[in-house]
Amino acid sequence: MVPTMKQITLLGATGSIGLRTLDLVSSFPEEFSVAGLAARGSNVERIADLCKKYAPRVVALLEPEARDRLAQLLPAPRPELLAGPEGLVALSRDVKADIVVSALVGGAGLLPTMAAIQAGRTVALANKETLVMAGRLMTAAARARGVKLLPVDSEHSAVFQCLAGHGRGDVHRILLTASGGPFRETPKARLATVTVEDALQHPTWKMGAKITIDSATLMNKGLEIIEARWLFDVAPDQVQVVVHPQSIIHSMVEYIDGSVIAQLGVADMGVPILYALTYPERRPTPAARLDLTRVAQLTFFEPDPDKFPCLRLARAALESSGSASVVLNAANEVAVAAFLDRRIGFTEIAALIEQALDGAPAGELGSIEACVDVDAETRRVVQQRIDSHRGGTVA
Ligand code: NAD
Ligand code: MG
Repeated sequence: MVPTMKQITLLGATGSIGLRTLDLVSSFPEEFSVAGLAARGSNVERIADLCKKYAPRVVALLEPEARDRLAQLLPAPRPELLAGPEGLVALSRDVKADIVVSALVGGAGLLPTMAAIQAGRTVALANKETLVMAGRLMTAAARARGVKLLPVDSEHSAVFQCLAGHGRGDVHRILLTASGGPFRETPKARLATVTVEDALQHPTWKMGAKITIDSATLMNKGLEIIEARWLFDVAPDQVQVVVHPQSIIHSMVEYIDGSVIAQLGVADMGVPILYALTYPERRPTPAARLDLTRVAQLTFFEPDPDKFPCLRLARAALESSGSASVVLNAANEVAVAAFLDRRIGFTEIAALIEQALDGAPAGELGSIEACVDVDAETRRVVQQRIDSHRGGTVA
């Protein structure tokens, strides 16, 4: 059977997930085409190349100057060019597409992803920070519009596959696997002095800088607990974490009868991305195959909450309130950016988040605008704390 062509709008086209998605478009040219692309605009030449190769109808860049430079680089007929946060929202809301791949990094993806849901488009979600900020509102909007939110995050794609064909009431718990990051075996006392380069050495996955640092602090797993709570509509204490350094089992679901179903594969984001694009079907891929006899050993450990406080902070935020999750995410984004800029040390990331959570407003947030406000205020406070402690410790 000849599959019908699916049109894709890709938010975050120049990132690690975005470029992997475009590889898949190239691998299946009769199956996927690109309706729209969005990115920050820091690398206009790269975006011009992507436009020539994938011929999107519309491109949205965060930075207006980047949009103007792109216009100069592209010969007519060129795609319609939009700019600013409102340009990104217009792209996902107005441009006809069968699926919007949400792969911006951080809270910047919230409004465009919500716009895609409200426009009734299927969303393939990599941008987990959006669910951390507004999981209740996003999943409610998706239910109200009958929109599918398909996970791209490898753990959540695994859980989604392990849940297929089962009643939610039969689920005992979800077990998210974590590689443990580059500091799994580093003594706690050394963490204060690890460098940006040390933290960027992820043992099993190659990803953008922000999520790689999140993997080193284990905040990535904390964000994923919150992501799973909303995507799969389970209670917070039904989502648990097990460290599995080989990253072969991508996650598991334990049922009430004690049966545990796991999804396994090599560590390649192409697999969960393609599954989200073709769901509920599958396609053959040239991806490397899992050879268990070569892997030989799968090992599992308890995470160490004392060494990795971010995991504890994320769980506390989830159990506390919707606004605490917004504060958690915003403080983490600002702290990780400051760490990457070498303005704070590695262990100060968690300290800044903990401080921000102490001041988190109570209660649920009733609108996306309220989430955006708490997000902006948290960023301001945490940034100020970093700026006013230049050279000293921040927390
Ligand atoms: P990345 O840093 O490689 O790419 C981010 C993309 O978003 C880029 O195209 C960038 O131009 C764009 N962008 C960033 N800030 C923007 C802004 N303010 N406005 C407009 N565009 C902006 O990130 P990534 O590793 O591809 O991760 C993307 C998302 O997917 C993150 O939420 C991450 O947690 C999630 N994720 C990534 C992986 C992975 O393997 N990389 C795995 C699972 C989940
Ligand atoms: Mg993941």
